[in-house]
Amino acid sequence: MKNKKLAGVYKFIVFFLLISFVVTCSFFLFFHFLDLPEEQIRQAAPVTFGNVMLITLIFWILDTLRRKFFTERPVMRITKGLERISAGDFDTRIQPVSDLSGMAEYNEIIEYINKMAQELSGVETLRTDFVSNVSHEMKTPLAVIRNYAALLSGDNVSPTERKEYAEAIDQATRRLSSLVENILKLNKLENQQIYPQKRTYDLSEQICQCLLDFENQWEEKDIAIDTDIDDCVTVTADPELLSIVWKNLISNALKFTENGGTVSVCVRQEDCFAIVSVSDTGCGMDSDTGRHIFEKFYQGDTSHSSMGNGLGLALVKRIADITGAEITVESQLGKGSTFTVKLPKEVAHGG
Ligand code: ADP
Repeated sequence: MKNKKLAGVYKFIVFFLLISFVVTCSFFLFFHFLDLPEEQIRQAAPVTFGNVMLITLIFWILDTLRRKFFTERPVMRITKGLERISAGDFDTRIQPVSDLSGMAEYNEIIEYINKMAQELSGVETLRTDFVSNVSHEMKTPLAVIRNYAALLSGDNVSPTERKEYAEAIDQATRRLSSLVENILKLNKLENQQIYPQKRTYDLSEQICQCLLDFENQWEEKDIAIDTDIDDCVTVTADPELLSIVWKNLISNALKFTENGGTVSVCVRQEDCFAIVSVSDTGCGMDSDTGRHIFEKFYQGDTSHSSMGNGLGLALVKRIADITGAEITVESQLGKGSTFTVKLPKEVAHGG
């Protein structure tokens, strides 16, 4: 730092003497052409050099002050801000410089740095939220497993109780493994580690198959299934990825519908799109819930929270983004919801 300052002073002195010398030489050339007597030139020489030195000194002082206030100050402000950001303080915001300084260009740099800090603080919040959400979601099934394992190890456990405890442990482990599976899938999708395997296939058949996979659930809840599926609607896409979408939408529809309700599935073809909609006569949601449902770990309806982990629709949205599909939701509290996916028949699989 000290060496840097010394080098700066040295540069200034060299620059200052050079300018004085150049300007004095110019003056002498000028006097030479005026054809003045040598005596007068000799007298004028030191005065001229002194004048030039003085004027140069005044300009040098003015320039130094200008630099100090209008260049060094904003640069210092930016450097200090960057120092704090690099140390992890993402709440740092750098104050813009006054437009009067004539250095408004710095404001553009400051604006970008502030934007970067804002983005970084958003990412940091997401990361910490994610970690706390995962830990929270893991805690409940782990506590269940621990409690039931302790009960099972007791001496006086009847066969019925043993079966009941084992079932509870089984359910908790299923929940844990579904959580881990979803986190891994989402992570892979977000980091582009899944390379979609496209092929042309029958979407109508895939949706019918997905529906059948939930037969036990709809029978258990006595839910009527209403289908309006066009024959042989084909798409060129990754069937595995899309099956995650259909399964999540259908399982949510069944989960949020009361016993005796109805779930309707409709598949049709419109120009170069396949339109799939899943409707239910379930609990529906208000507009505030509707705004958050695609966020990771968001669960609007807490009465069913143990039956999911709030990652299903986040996965659905990510897959929709990758496949270029559009997903919309219409819902009315207490009346039901309709999720509609508008899928290009030839999926580009960007992401
Ligand atoms: P979860 O697996 O916990 O249900 P999702 O990501 O699938 O998580 O859904 C997030 C939230 O969206 C749910 O907690 C619920 O509030 C709302 N939701 C999703 N589908 C429906 C639906 N068919 N009817 C009403 N609410 C729904």
